[in-house]
Amino acid sequence: MTGPTPDAPTACPTGELPRSTGVVVVGAGITGASIGHHLALRGIPVTVVEQAPGPGAGATGRSGGMVRGYDPDPAIGELARPSLAVYRDPARWASGRAPLRAVGAITVTDPADEPALRGAADRINRAPDTSAYVVTGRDEIMGVRLDDGAALVEPDAGWVPPVEVTRDWLGQAVTNGASLHYGTRVLGVEDRGGRPVVRTSAGEIRAGAVVAATGLWTARPPQGLRPSSPVRSRSIQISIVRREPPAPAHATFIDLRTGVYARPVDANHSLIGMPHLVWDSPFDSASDPAHARATAQAVGIHLPWAAAAEQVSVVRAADGYGEHSAILARTRLPHVWSVRGWNGGGVKTAPEAGRRIANALLTRAFTHDA
Ligand SMILES: Cc1cc2nc3c(=O)[nH]c(=O)nc-3n(C[C@H](O)[C@H](O)[C@H](O)COP(=O)(O)OP(=O)(O)OC[C@H]3O[C@@H](n4cnc5c(N)ncnc54)[C@H](O)[C@@H]3O)c2cc1C
Repeated sequence: MTGPTPDAPTACPTGELPRSTGVVVVGAGITGASIGHHLALRGIPVTVVEQAPGPGAGATGRSGGMVRGYDPDPAIGELARPSLAVYRDPARWASGRAPLRAVGAITVTDPADEPALRGAADRINRAPDTSAYVVTGRDEIMGVRLDDGAALVEPDAGWVPPVEVTRDWLGQAVTNGASLHYGTRVLGVEDRGGRPVVRTSAGEIRAGAVVAATGLWTARPPQGLRPSSPVRSRSIQISIVRREPPAPAHATFIDLRTGVYARPVDANHSLIGMPHLVWDSPFDSASDPAHARATAQAVGIHLPWAAAAEQVSVVRAADGYGEHSAILARTRLPHVWSVRGWNGGGVKTAPEAGRRIANALLTRAFTHDA
């Protein structure tokens, strides 16, 4: 595949805002980038507008990037399975390299959930290019202690670098005709004569349709972009810890009983996390040292070396959370939609979510089903 390298989007001509376009995508996080890529692939004139000076300035830029085919929520699992196949496929990327680091992914559950895991393994094994199996009664697998849990093992899953993915999609979108505008904040959207007009810090754009992929900012959206199904921001905090020999290499894991998770970063570091249940948390809140200590203790059940490991850094951010499962929510304006909150898991679903959202916009935005 030809096209720009993953670092190219900022070098593309962003120029003046167009006066009109087919679809305005608000937000150049991983979700907006995927939507923009899929719309541009289908030949739709698309304009991506991002308030920050570059891509991935929100949750995407702080994300752990763990990806696997399984999720206890079937609607998320349906998005995650085909997304994993995209992350594994070099032909889908302008760089010619698949972004997936296939270190393996372990999902630990209560042993009573074993039948659900076996069903999930069947579904994953039916999907292209992915595989899974269930283990029970084992102490450890792929460097992860199971603490009497059952585990779904996905050897072909792992993690991706979310900003690299975002840049690659934006580069492909620009190559396919999209315009991309950093440092441009959307101030509001209004209806004029049945079509949306987007007011931005750099001028107005008349659009066939608008989709807000504004992540946690969807909780306090600009005028006209409030979704019918509410989204709230919730804190997510992770730590990077040193992994010294003889601590073994390990797969990514999440224990669904406690929510603790980890993934390797490189040969000597791992990322660890645990739910941080602080609602309406601003994106740049100060880190919580007590939670960082509690996370290391909780992860130590699965990675015994982690409890006493040196904490190299602590990253606190937030994501958009909502209860709805539809990928798009209506707003009060015709032809204007908002993307669902990804509840701390938007990287693992972004390839398929962007494809489906682009298709939904094509069928709804330019018809009367607004
Ligand atoms: C610490 C952390 C770890 C995570 N780990 C994982 C993981 O391991 N696996 C996983 O799948 N998910 C993970 N997630 C969740 C995942 O990163 C998010 O669900 C995903 O990145 C959301 O992407 P997004 O594009 O929807 O939102 P964002 O990345 O937040 O992007 C929204 C964009 O909209 C822009 N914007 C907002 N308002 C405006 C406006 N008015 N005008 C113009 N632009 C605007 C913002 O600047 C931002 O760039 C993690 C998240 C965090 C914070």
